Amino acid sequence: MRLRNITGSREVIGESVYVVHDLETSAGKWKEIFGNKNPIFAEIGMGKGRFVMEMARRNPDINFIGIEKYSSVLLRAIQKMEEEELPNVKFIRMDAEDIDKVFAKGELDRIYLNFSDPWPKDRHAKRRLPSRQFLARYDKILKKDGVIEFKTDNRPLFDFAVEELEPAGFKIKELTYDLHADARLCEGNVMTEYEEKFSSQGNPICKYIIYR
Ligand code: SAM
Repeated sequence: MRLRNITGSREVIGESVYVVHDLETSAGKWKEIFGNKNPIFAEIGMGKGRFVMEMARRNPDINFIGIEKYSSVLLRAIQKMEEEELPNVKFIRMDAEDIDKVFAKGELDRIYLNFSDPWPKDRHAKRRLPSRQFLARYDKILKKDGVIEFKTDNRPLFDFAVEELEPAGFKIKELTYDLHADARLCEGNVMTEYEEKFSSQGNPICKYIIYR
């Protein structure tokens, strides 16, 4: 997702209290940043923040971090927070390539990857957020018994993601190729923006939950 450049988005983000800016010193400080000891869940590649904000509304005792690479997209999430402030949500603008520098070992309780960019060319495989290179980064910052949840309608990307698990040391806890037809796995499902769009076009949604 890349919206056209919006003038001033960097300035708005730079001044936003909903965004954590000092990423050089944030590792190990996230409980302090939220001001409580609640578990911390992060969505990597959150887009406009709909999923993370709905999860935060439903789960006030969990802290949520939305991570997004593009200012123009993050701006939309900030605007939503200005309308409805959620104390258990923070945003980060960054490329997730450096995610293991921003969190300490085991600092995240759960990671969500929702409708990650497919990067269809083989030579770009390591840019895919569920690739083994990214799983190695998540491995460092995810709590020992933490899980990663991944949803997509893109079957080739999902098949790739499943193949990446074993070399990266992760195991499947749950897997479906049609989430919305699986009453058990779909219970409490929060639809993302992309999920709403693609499922309304009739695309089945694949999902896994993985652990080590
Ligand atoms: N998760 C949202 C959803 O399901 O509606 C948005 C999905 S959109 C296809 C993917 C988002 O991930 C885009 O907003 C993109 O900018 C972001 N993204 C892609 N690669 C990223 C990276 N390396 N670090 C942070 N964000 C990334």
